[in-house]
Amino acid sequence: MLRPTIEQDAIAWSHRGDRAALERLLLACTALSSISASAAIALARANECPLAALEEAAPPFVDGERDAFAAWRDAARASQATGDPGPLLIALEAPQPAAPERSFASLPAELPSGALPPEPARPVATPNRPFSASALNMFVDCRRRWFFRYVCDPVEETDSPAASYGTAFHAALENFHAEFPRPTEELRAEMAQRLDALIVAAFDRARSTFATAVEVELQKERARRTAVRYIEWLCERARQLPFEVVGIERRVAPTIGGHQFVGFIDRLDRLDLDGSIAVVDYKTGSIAESAKEYRERVRRFEDFQLPFYYWSQELAGERVSRLALLPLKDHTVPIAPIELEVVGAGATPRDNGTRGTISILDLERARDRMVEIGDEIRGERIDRFAASEDPESCAYCIYTLSCTDRPQAEPERFSR
Ligand code: SF4
Repeated sequence: MLRPTIEQDAIAWSHRGDRAALERLLLACTALSSISASAAIALARANECPLAALEEAAPPFVDGERDAFAAWRDAARASQATGDPGPLLIALEAPQPAAPERSFASLPAELPSGALPPEPARPVATPNRPFSASALNMFVDCRRRWFFRYVCDPVEETDSPAASYGTAFHAALENFHAEFPRPTEELRAEMAQRLDALIVAAFDRARSTFATAVEVELQKERARRTAVRYIEWLCERARQLPFEVVGIERRVAPTIGGHQFVGFIDRLDRLDLDGSIAVVDYKTGSIAESAKEYRERVRRFEDFQLPFYYWSQELAGERVSRLALLPLKDHTVPIAPIELEVVGAGATPRDNGTRGTISILDLERARDRMVEIGDEIRGERIDRFAASEDPESCAYCIYTLSCTDRPQAEPERFSR
């Protein structure tokens, strides 16, 4: 029986090409000594070649290990080609010969031993993956954190209660709108009952991602109460601006400015009024408190999420008229989305609390900045990933222990 982490890594490799997961899977291959597996990983990194194409790098395998590595490599390739973790899992689960005893003394003579001089510093090659809006947001917020997260990938991020709450709530809403693509006042009672049942089922399914049983129940209750608010808002919205849900968890992967971007849009509504599209993003964490605040974040190039979704739909031939962040965090207040209506270049910005406008010019500038960041990441190798100067950036950063350059929070400065 394989460890659950091995299964997760096999899925991460076959679905997303996650290199760190593949490296862990090589270390899990019991027919290879940990020294040989580590040497192979180091050689692949040093030669910047895919781990599954290591023949050219000639890792220092001993008898028996070369065949074992070839079998593992073929399975890794098959899993990636088919998107199915099965071949890798079968290869790792099959009885394997014990790894030969290795010690550093048994490594080939051409490998240097003893203390090595430090390597000269050199610019870092960045991974060649599609960009997501959250990756761009992190890059502009703190390059050092982006480096830790997307280049080093050193820490397995465990689910926080907030993340688990968000995942379960999203899953419930995905199923809900598949059943109720056209909400109406007449369906209010039926919708409320069904969403409640879907919330309970989603949180029960997600039970293992919460630390304790009490935590699951608390978060489930919070979601059920928020769902009541959601149905109130949904009926009101359907009355004011009737719509049909035409996309749920829609995967988008447009090429913009020569770069591949990827993301998932929570919901796409087609408005009866004029057939245009409203992009809806569910937010279970903190968000801007006004339309103006969110628009200014877009203008300062601090948030690319809704601009990215906007362009993904425009490039798909849709006309997008509205962009909305829908808060699902607080059950104590009515739901009031942050909603921006897209207006022409010459229009004067209008704001009324949570509702406002955003100019097509702002969206074009955001798109151009996305491409510039893409050019920077993909262009010349980056030789320094600066740490953020804003202590607020560090509030939820999981790399604080590794980050020697992080800015000090005000209380820390004061206590010195
Ligand atoms: S601790 Fe702060 S400065 Fe360091 S990587 Fe995290 S967010 Fe950036």
